[in-house]
Amino acid sequence: MMRTPGTTELLQVWEQGAGKPATMRALLLMMAVSPVSDRGALAHWTIGKRDSLLLNLRDALFGPEIHCLTNCTRCGEPIELDFCLDDIRVPHGEPGRAYRTVAGGYEVHFRLPDSTDLLALDGALPVQAERLLLARCVLEARREEGDVEATALPDAVLSVISQEMSEADPQAEVLLEVTCPACSAVSPAPFDIVSHLWSELDAWARRMLREVHALAMAYGWSETEILRMSATRRRAYLDLIAS
Ligand SMILES: [Zn+2]
Repeated sequence: MMRTPGTTELLQVWEQGAGKPATMRALLLMMAVSPVSDRGALAHWTIGKRDSLLLNLRDALFGPEIHCLTNCTRCGEPIELDFCLDDIRVPHGEPGRAYRTVAGGYEVHFRLPDSTDLLALDGALPVQAERLLLARCVLEARREEGDVEATALPDAVLSVISQEMSEADPQAEVLLEVTCPACSAVSPAPFDIVSHLWSELDAWARRMLREVHALAMAYGWSETEILRMSATRRRAYLDLIAS
């Protein structure tokens, strides 16, 4: 159930997200496409569920084909990537589910990370961030002697939890396998729908404002009037100005 936001609404999202962390931008986009009744729950969606919705939004706004660049991890050669959204769709974890694992003599119950966790990590050093994230997601940890604080879990146990989280929410981390045309090395290229979609939205918004600027200069129309027009009609007037 996704609604496609209109031109004015999308520009508002772009404006509100300027200078904000990626997690906040993702939430603004999610809110714009969700019914009001669902908005309170969005921050607790798993990251995979969030990204799955953002893939749908990308499809609705800019179509299913992605073209982007990455660099070979061995020789640094730029590699062009072309793929379809469907190529990177995998199952996502559901919010509100608890998982259980036994590792290194500990029994741990945990949940999957969501946007509130990512927002809480903002500003943390990368080395601390992962521990902090895992500790936030541990619901209960126990040894034979009794309960253990999540922050006291050994690294080996945390890494098992981290691995199980990835397996339970594969859409949260999309890794493409790319072969370098220069040195033939195969390297994993992460694809982040939030930053990709935001940079496209940014380019689109700046183009929209250039169009508003040109039409307002030529005809004296207000921004509201111009944005209310269909893209076809705006284009036709812009062609007249250029001719
Ligand atoms: Zn290479």
